[in-house]
Amino acid sequence: MNRAVVPGTFDPVTSGHLDIIERAAALFDEVVVGVALSDKKNGGPLFTPEERVALLEGATQHLGNVTVRPFDTLLVDFAEEVGASVAVKGLRAVTDFEREFQMAALNWRLDAKIETMFIMAVPEYMYLSSSAVKEIARHGGSVRGLVPDEVCDALEQKLL
Ligand code: ADP
Repeated sequence: MNRAVVPGTFDPVTSGHLDIIERAAALFDEVVVGVALSDKKNGGPLFTPEERVALLEGATQHLGNVTVRPFDTLLVDFAEEVGASVAVKGLRAVTDFEREFQMAALNWRLDAKIETMFIMAVPEYMYLSSSAVKEIARHGGSVRGLVPDEVCDALEQKLL
């Protein structure tokens, strides 16, 4: 059984995240999407962990081999806990590479049994991030197509 984790903050899940999850689900028998709780960047997440998990569950319900779980530990410990041997990350621009390169090296140092694998973002979503989506929504712009429809509605409610 080949199981992979796809970790992230997912605040909220975007079409770019979903593309990576779908492609990982086609490559592995099982995919566990890990929702990191403790990210304090930019004043903390907009959505609660429960909301982020629920939005991801809605967005991935068409994928039979994908489950969603929150985690608040080291990524390698989370991967071991769910029985995954691979962590799949999406790669957008050069800026992602620098950060991901460092994290992959540190994770390898922490637990060499967990392999980090990268999937390149499709050109359409190369510049898409959760923070950009929140910025657009906050200023009343449309994010339809950039995020699953449920996320559009959740953003509207949250930012009303
Ligand atoms: P963000 O950087 O948007 O806040 P996360 O921290 O939740 O997102 O990122 C989780 C993973 O998803 C990371 O590996 C990140 O590189 C990847 N990712 C984020 N946005 C995209 C995208 N548009 N296309 C491909 N991968 C992405």
